[in-house]
Formats: sequence, structure tokens, C-alpha cells
Amino acid sequence: MRKISAEILCVGTELLLGDIINTNASYISARLSEIGVSVYHQAVVGDNEDRLKGAIKDALSRSDVLITSGGLGPTYDDITKETVSALLGIEMYYDKNIAERIHEYFKRIGRAMPPSNEKQAMTPVGAHIIPNPRGTAPGLMIDGKYQGKEVTVIMLPGPPCELEPMTDESVLPLLARKFNAEKGIFFSRNLHFTGIGESSLEEIIRPLMDSLNPTVAPYAGEGEVRIRITASAKSEDEGRRLCDEMIDKMLSYKVGKYLYSIDIPTIEETLVRLLSERRMTLSTAESCTGGLISKRLTDVPGASSVFPGGICSYAEKVKINALGVEGKTIEEHTAVSEECAKEMAERVRALMDTDIGVSVTGYAGPGGGDEANPVGTVYIGVSTSERTFVKRYSFSSLRDRVFIRRAASSYAMGLVLSEIGNGEFDIR
Ligand code: ATP
Ligand code: MG
Repeated sequence: MRKISAEILCVGTELLLGDIINTNASYISARLSEIGVSVYHQAVVGDNEDRLKGAIKDALSRSDVLITSGGLGPTYDDITKETVSALLGIEMYYDKNIAERIHEYFKRIGRAMPPSNEKQAMTPVGAHIIPNPRGTAPGLMIDGKYQGKEVTVIMLPGPPCELEPMTDESVLPLLARKFNAEKGIFFSRNLHFTGIGESSLEEIIRPLMDSLNPTVAPYAGEGEVRIRITASAKSEDEGRRLCDEMIDKMLSYKVGKYLYSIDIPTIEETLVRLLSERRMTLSTAESCTGGLISKRLTDVPGASSVFPGGICSYAEKVKINALGVEGKTIEEHTAVSEECAKEMAERVRALMDTDIGVSVTGYAGPGGGDEANPVGTVYIGVSTSERTFVKRYSFSSLRDRVFIRRAASSYAMGLVLSEIGNGEFDIR
């Protein structure tokens, strides 16, 4: 694909006031980078004609493609389409097909159409219509000339529930076809990692990150990292082959031990699936995560056949009285220790009569911790019929409580996956 530059302009006064977060810009940027389109500028402008004009002029003078979000609605302050058309010297006409679709949309949702919605059928001459099955305003793509330069403007409606699928379903394929005539489709695979931080993982696979086709894009989560591989190809088969070759290359960097799934979006879903396949059961004893693993596991339909339950043993009293950890262990080593984590995992496995017990104890902060075990220290225990082991992790104390708890729950599920996985995805 020829290196093309794009920029994003989000229209809406509520964005400037900080009332809503500009998720559209980050969504579009992330998707464009995956297909090798460089985004050099993002801007936000209110619903003001002069300032909107200024922002569009700036964008068109610099970039090949401008993608706008918002301002396609029926009200007087929705002026994106009108402003772009005026700047490119393009007339607008009333498009009967669009009007009909808007009428149908209101019929489908069982509401009378407000007369103002007729405005949404006004369309720049020659524009390509981008379908919007989830709302009234269709998106528009216009090819035009600005200061003698060929430019493309793509206008999308503001609501993310409309804009995001339109980006995936229409905008990316349109751009692919436009700038790379033969290669029509994108094919993506997502690799999900846990037990390793984003920067460490990136450092290992650094040589692959500059690949243009397929592209390799990392997304950091809390205790998890997703690597999205996207190939531009002539067919799905070719796309899959390109992605799979990249996956093989990546695994040759010995990162397979952190990979928990390919294309299964969450670690809890992966774990429930694997436990079901193995006909195994799991129980949890959670201190600093306070039931977060239980919560995440039970988010998955069908978890009941593999997860009978867990004990939220936050206080020492509960660790001792409900779980059966020796008081002496806590006295000698404290509750945040390898010894305590080990007993917690073993005890819960016995109590719940499961194949595996997993335990978490640590300091999620902001207070607590000591010199040996500062805030961010987490011990995770895994007990099976064959062995019990404990791993100690140090999350940065600069991370907040929410992050540390969430990451600890992911790492714990990752450890269980490693213990019972037998190399399907090279999970160790
Ligand atoms: P509508 O027909 O819904 O009015 P529109 O294209 O005119 O669509 P806006 O009126 O600008 O879009 O925005 C509609 C809603 O979409 C906003 O109230 C906001 O909730 C959401 N939204 C708009 N822009 C963004 C953005 N950049 N990021 C996230 N959400 C946004
Ligand atoms: Mg609007």
C-alpha cells in the first residue's frame, strides 16, 4: 500500500467541554495504523462554522484523507456535511434513497420521524454513501480537489456504536480498495498475552513491529497485552496465510509461554474453555483481588461446570477460620507471603474438592506493604494433585489499586492456564 497520510477531525462542543471522551479519534487512529495509514494530526472543534471551516482547511492542505466524526445529525448545529461541501465547491441534492432508508429506520424502531431528519437526506453530489444500519445518518465519502491536490473526505456520525462498526465494515475496505487497487480485504488475528508487560513484550518482538504487511499493533490492557496482526490481501485465504506466517515468526522469539489465546478475547473465557475441555474444576482463594477472579470467571456462560466457587479471604481471620490457613504461618511470614499463598491454594482446593486451587495475596495499595514486599507485590499460588507452587510478582507501585488487582487476577488465571495447557498455543 502506498504510504498515505490521514487525519481525524472530531466535531462537537461537548468534546471541547470535556463532557465526553474522544473515543472516536482513538478508535479510528488505531484501526488506520493497523492498515498502514499514518495519522499525523487529530483535532477537535466545536459546532461553530468558522472554526470548523478553518480546521477542515488545515487538514486538507496537509493530508490525503480527512476523516470527520460528528455533526451529521438532523439539528441546526450539525453542519459538517454542509461545510465540507462548501469548501470543496460541491453542490448538495436531496437523495430519495437515503430519505427512504431514514423513513424505514424510524418505522423499524417504531417511532414517528421528526421532520428535521429530512435534512439528513441532503447529500453532496458524487458522494459515496457509507451505510449506517445502526442509525439514521449515513456516512459519506467525497473525492475532491483542494488547492489543486486530490483529497478524500470521509464523514462519519458521532455515536461510537455507529461509527466503530462503520469504520470496520466500510471505511477500512474502502481505503484499501482506493489506495491499493488489487488488494481488497483485511484479515486480522489477535494474540493475547499475559504474565509479561507491554514494553518487555515489545522489546522482544521489536524487529517485527515495523512490518507493513501484515502490520503488528500492540494494545496494553491491565495485566494483559493484545497484539493485533492485520494483513491486507486479495482473499481471506491469503490474509490468513500472511497472518499465520507472522504468528510463527513471533513465536520463534520464545514469547509462546506468555500467549494465552489466539482470537479468544478474554483470559477468563479461554480458561473456562480449557477447563471444560480437560473436564477439570477450579476454586479460588482471593485476598487482595477480593473475588475478582470469581467475578471474571462467572462472567463466562457455562462457568458453573468448572468453577464451583471460591473464598474471598480478605481478612486474616477469614484466611484462618474459613480457609484453614495456619495462624502460625501468618504470624511467622505475614499474610502476604509465599507460605500463606501456598496454604491458601492447597486449602481451597481441598475445601471445594476441585482439581485446581488458585490463590492471590498481595498489596494493592495505596497504603500497606513493607520493605521486603512493597505495594504492588503479589503472590499467586496454584495447587493441583501433582504439585503446589507459588510465584511472586512485582507490579509497579506507581500503578493504582484498580490496575494491580486486575493485573493480579489476569496473571493468576494465566498461571492456571500454563499449568494445565499442554501446548495447544504453546502455553506453558
Ligand atoms: P446524531 O445524529 O446522533 O446527532 P451526529 O453525527 O450529529 O449524530 P454528534 O451530534 O456530534 O453526532 O454526536 C452524537 C453523540 O455521539 C454525542 O452526544 C456523543 O455521545 C457521541 N460522540 C460524538 N463525538 C464523539 C467522539 N469523538 N468520541 C466519542 N463519542 C462521541
Ligand atoms: Mg448531532
